[in-house]
Amino acid sequence: MNDLTNTPRPGSETPRAPRQRKPDWIRVRAPVSKEYHETRKLMRDLSLNTVCEEAACPNIGECWSKKHATVMILGDVCTRACAFCNVKTGMPRMVDPMEPQNTAVAAAEMGLKHIVITSVDRDDLPDGGASQFVKVIEALRRETPDTTIEILTPDFRNKMRPAVEAICEAGPDVYNHNLETVPRLYPTIRPGARYYASLRLLEEVKSHDPLIFTKSGIMLGLGEERLEVHQVMDDMRSADVDFITMGQYLQPTPKHAKVEEFVTPRAFDAYGSIARAKGFLQVASSPLTRSSYHAGDDFAVMKAAREEKFAKVAGSSGGSAA
Ligand code: SF4
Repeated sequence: MNDLTNTPRPGSETPRAPRQRKPDWIRVRAPVSKEYHETRKLMRDLSLNTVCEEAACPNIGECWSKKHATVMILGDVCTRACAFCNVKTGMPRMVDPMEPQNTAVAAAEMGLKHIVITSVDRDDLPDGGASQFVKVIEALRRETPDTTIEILTPDFRNKMRPAVEAICEAGPDVYNHNLETVPRLYPTIRPGARYYASLRLLEEVKSHDPLIFTKSGIMLGLGEERLEVHQVMDDMRSADVDFITMGQYLQPTPKHAKVEEFVTPRAFDAYGSIARAKGFLQVASSPLTRSSYHAGDDFAVMKAAREEKFAKVAGSSGGSAA
């Protein structure tokens, strides 16, 4: 039987790439609620970009209905071209000086208890965009002092140490930097980055301020092997990463890297159990897990887990001293 979607149209030179059928566990709700439209309008009115839209996140219907959005600062054009990412690539525009204040206004209007801020890669800027992260954190502390702040940064290639130092000084609650995939797949999936440089960034955050929670994530379904995933978990733990996220990679367009495998929910659970056994304070592992998915709730769980751990250590050292 012919699949019409793959039949070349008369006059067209190449057939369209076949669409990969998603399994049932990937299906998501369409974004239709009133709150979704309010979130969208607020972002437009304040000229803010979100990774929810730019990365074509499958959770946008759910998150925006709860008024959770992840603001993407430093514009909507990235200087890298990763094979998994839907964000536009090219020469970015000038940095918007109103972005920090507008981000804080958005957080206040949405009444956010926890906000996630990410950015495109800005290899064109002398500091990689670190000072804009600092300004956003400062504006949020000023306008919404009770909102906890999670940042998800690029790797700040060739300027990592001063960038991380400046951002840590501004005092985010959570510092996230994603390893994205296993080291073997970097040349094809994340060609502009280096696995060990990203790990070093995570280590650097902890050595600068051990109280900042660190978080990192990988996408599954890109062709990685199970033992390679376990190795990434060990590498993260050796960098003292507190929180690991694992989610299914989805191909944003036929031009992007292919999905090699739809990992089953059961396999995600198994990875989650292994990660917990390896000592992460918090683990999120499911097909629809994304770095910022349920970030506020997960932050509360991670904080409680650390307090419990500290209390146990204090209890046991008190016992041995007595
Ligand atoms: S999971 Fe993150 S990126 Fe996706 S819609 Fe929710 S907040 Fe946005």
